[in-house]
Amino acid sequence: MLLSGTTKLLGVIGYPIAHSLSPAMHNAALAQLGLDYVYLPLPVKPEDLEVAIAGFAAIGVQGFNVTIPHKQAVMALMSDISAIAQAVGAVNTVSWTEQGWVGTNTDVAGFIAPLQPLSTNWSQSTALVLGNGGSARAVVAGCAQLGFGQVQVAGRNAEKLAAFLHSWSASSIAVNLSVHPWDDLPALLPSADLLVNTTPLGMHPHVERSPLTASDLELLKRGAIAYDLIYTPDPTRFLQLAQASGAVAISGLEMLVQQGAAALEGWMQQPAPVEVMREALLDRLRSPK
Ligand code: NAP
Repeated sequence: MLLSGTTKLLGVIGYPIAHSLSPAMHNAALAQLGLDYVYLPLPVKPEDLEVAIAGFAAIGVQGFNVTIPHKQAVMALMSDISAIAQAVGAVNTVSWTEQGWVGTNTDVAGFIAPLQPLSTNWSQSTALVLGNGGSARAVVAGCAQLGFGQVQVAGRNAEKLAAFLHSWSASSIAVNLSVHPWDDLPALLPSADLLVNTTPLGMHPHVERSPLTASDLELLKRGAIAYDLIYTPDPTRFLQLAQASGAVAISGLEMLVQQGAAALEGWMQQPAPVEVMREALLDRLRSPK
């Protein structure tokens, strides 16, 4: 990559941010497209968020991604927020526009991208979502966008589950949503067409863990889709067990690539080189620097 006097700046804010895979993925894409941009990891402490974003405007940053712990706090600093980001309650992508900073959420587009080729009509399908945290919100919005007939969310904390359900009643997203205690899973699994893990169970370094056991996963229909949002390891134990029971497996790596591609397409108004981005991520995961 050749930096010049005209190179424009993109980046990702978070704290900590040093382990982010986004710079590798975006810089590979920018180089492939021959664009005079660089994408940097930008460590921003929570107490510095407002001043950092004012500074980005002052130095002509074109756009940035947002990760933990800023995905909600950054919303108060936007001139406008897309309907999908409002429904999810989090912004992960920000663009500089004539009206100022505009926030959106590309996790939803990232989540649905690997599902779209598998069916054009999900109206008779049931999605079962494990966990009710931040990424479960993007998953529910994604399932609503695909037109799932039913979306069931299972969690371990009754109060958080009730709050999760309530939060969608006031949102612009129409979804046939129900929440269930974790103990109901054996009864729910046989009718799930899509099973999504949004818990961190099985994430590196606890790779031997899985949100469900082999015998739980044997309850799935043959040909059901098992989707793990975790991307390290790839595949997770959950996906291995689900695949052994006849499920189709989708790794969180695909969501990561596709949310990045959607962000880049928003900034550059041109198709993203998805293959190049996927390869850059796989390279980093194979040999972390
Ligand atoms: P989060 O907001 O902390 O939510 C995690 C959820 O998992 C919570 O509902 C939590 O339950 C539940 N949970 C945790 N331990 C559990 C256990 N032992 N049994 C049952 N439920 C449990 O986290 P997040 O931001 O949604 O991220 C979750 C995972 O998704 C992470 O591994 C992250 O790396 C991955 N992710 C991937 C992508 C991608 O692009 N592929 C994007 C976003 C996130 P409580 O609410 O009861 O605490």
